[in-house]
Amino acid sequence: MTFGSSGYRTDFGLLKSMLNRYHAGNCPSCRQGRLFLFRNLATEDIYAHCEECEWGYITPGDIEAKSAFLTLLDDDDAEYAAIEEISRSVWANYTVIALDDLGFGPALPASS
Ligand SMILES: [Zn+2]
Repeated sequence: MTFGSSGYRTDFGLLKSMLNRYHAGNCPSCRQGRLFLFRNLATEDIYAHCEECEWGYITPGDIEAKSAFLTLLDDDDAEYAAIEEISRSVWANYTVIALDDLGFGPALPASS
């Protein structure tokens, strides 16, 4: 996706969502993607899902241990976890960064 001619780019088409999203920092596997927190609708697990490489981490310890699972192999539906859900999960004491759609992504280049 490209906005105008700025070359600004994003990797997911979720701009239409007005929900806040939360991520747990950068992915230790690819070091590029952010680990967005999702809720598995079948198991109610809150897990971190890398936006770039699609690896997932069930707990903060899994991030440190680089013990990931490939989310593409998981057929269960998931949606962005709400902060209330995160606060009741194993991620409650982990550093979670909120990202709302008004402040989406890196700042747009200043117009000159
Ligand atoms: Zn990754």
